[in-house]
Amino acid sequence: MQDVVEKVYEQVVARNRGEVEFHQAVHEVLDSLGPVIAKHPHYAEGALLERIVEPERQIMFRVPWVDDAGQVHVNRGFRIEFNSALGPYKGGLRFHPSVNAGIIKFLGFEQIFKNALTAQGIGGGKGGSDFDPHGRSDAEVMRFCQSFMTELSRHIGPSTDVPAGDIGVGGREIGYMFGQYKRLRNSYDAGVLTGKGLAWGGSLVRTEATGYGAVLFAQSMLATRGESLEGKKVIVSGGGNVAIYAIEKAQQLGATPITFSDSSGYVVDDAGVDLELLKQIKEVERGRVADYVERRPGARLVTGGSVWDVPGDVALPCATQNELDGDAANTLLRGGCGVVSEGANMPSTPEAVEAFQKAGILFGPGKAANAGGVATSALEMEQNAGRTRWDFATAEAKLTDIMADIHDSCVAAAEEYGRPGDYVLGANAAGFTRVADVMIAHGIV
Ligand code: NDP
Repeated sequence: MQDVVEKVYEQVVARNRGEVEFHQAVHEVLDSLGPVIAKHPHYAEGALLERIVEPERQIMFRVPWVDDAGQVHVNRGFRIEFNSALGPYKGGLRFHPSVNAGIIKFLGFEQIFKNALTAQGIGGGKGGSDFDPHGRSDAEVMRFCQSFMTELSRHIGPSTDVPAGDIGVGGREIGYMFGQYKRLRNSYDAGVLTGKGLAWGGSLVRTEATGYGAVLFAQSMLATRGESLEGKKVIVSGGGNVAIYAIEKAQQLGATPITFSDSSGYVVDDAGVDLELLKQIKEVERGRVADYVERRPGARLVTGGSVWDVPGDVALPCATQNELDGDAANTLLRGGCGVVSEGANMPSTPEAVEAFQKAGILFGPGKAANAGGVATSALEMEQNAGRTRWDFATAEAKLTDIMADIHDSCVAAAEEYGRPGDYVLGANAAGFTRVADVMIAHGIV
């Protein structure tokens, strides 16, 4: 790491003690910026680097709610409004017991550059709560969402900050939060949240967008080597929104996904995932991946080890941060894996990324590969502002174009800064320069 960026990183560690995921995300970006600063030293002037690693605003609040038995619970809510150079803060809300300030900050920081890559005029933010929706009734989830939004509503708005879903936040939660926002504000601001239901301002393709985008990104990377996904065996982790639609798009492109997972284990289905069954269990019944094995002859549930022990040509990590470590990366490489496209945010540890890059395989980092979700959220905002609604084919064509543009921007930036084929450098450099140029134009703010 160059001296100038090293100093910024040390300050981040000192000022944000114990926030290890945030340190990791900042290190990854700053580490890439050496060749950018060397070529354009003005990016290190005016404390631009120091400003970009400091959130514009951090909101933390109490979320009290009452369960079905009448017991009162107190969760913690977060919204990190990280950077508004390119547009209103934009990024999802995560409801998971592991959520803390460091995790939300890492996600918000990544979001700045991801959103810049989409070229959709959106700034970076992220939020959430340590609330665990697993095992809660609809009424409990509704009361939690209403309490969460009662505070959050003071801070968001269609031109200010536009949250969406993430782990633990899907259409049901967005619905409850939108209902409460509308009630508090007495205003039908459809553009205040994305990931809405189709009957009340949602966009076709938003549900599919992140998973579809990660697979389209893999296809674009393969095309640079004259290959495609056709006939490839795909290892997928996660069993939620991103994983399901990554499986769907991979199947459409002629590949065979054979795995998926949740926090209790992973499923291997050598015949290829039965997507309709998986959707029925996860989307309709809100069940566990283990339920799949009971209804699908030949599929097996593995509760020890890791899904990355299963050999395949392509890996799509779609669960959570740091789910794929250096050992898992080496196991994947030994199994013949030649492509990794990250559907999740920061799923590969630094050791894993290093192993993939050393081996010279195609590695698409999350901030580029999973940007299809937020890009389609921006398309949802565009439809809300125009009071219009596009059909599926129109929205999907726009997503496909945006993913191709993101891929090409990464390739061009990697070449410009002397490391062709390095998508990590490409994504960080292309995203950073777009934000940095506008921050400079806006002065010291
Ligand atoms: P969901 O809540 O729909 O699904 C998450 C899935 O991952 C669940 O099956 C969950 O299992 C599983 N999971 C979580 N932690 C682990 C773990 N430690 N080991 C194995 N499985 C685990 O979330 P999404 O699909 O929306 O999000 C997945 C990832 O994609 C996250 O990193 C998110 O930040 C990222 N992302 C999502 C976007 C979106 O549009 N939704 C956009 C861009 C990125 P369990 O139920 O057992 O917890």
